[in-house]
Amino acid sequence: MSVVKLAVKCPHCKEPIIAGSTRCKHCHAELVSSTKKTSPLKKLDTFRAGFLSGLLFSLLIALIGWLHFTS
Ligand SMILES: [Zn+2]
Repeated sequence: MSVVKLAVKCPHCKEPIIAGSTRCKHCHAELVSSTKKTSPLKKLDTFRAGFLSGLLFSLLIALIGWLHFTS
């Protein structure tokens, strides 16, 4: 299997560089990528969504049990 590397153009020298690299190998300019900064936030969001759905589910179970006992 061959590893497919996404090539992007350096904004400074327009030379092809590997996507995700922090420094251009041609002009050695620092490249700031925002993709790495967004991934932990997405993970936190999925964790929060899972936590909230679990909380809602347990609340629903408690409500059903409460209704069962009161009726
Ligand atoms: Zn460059």
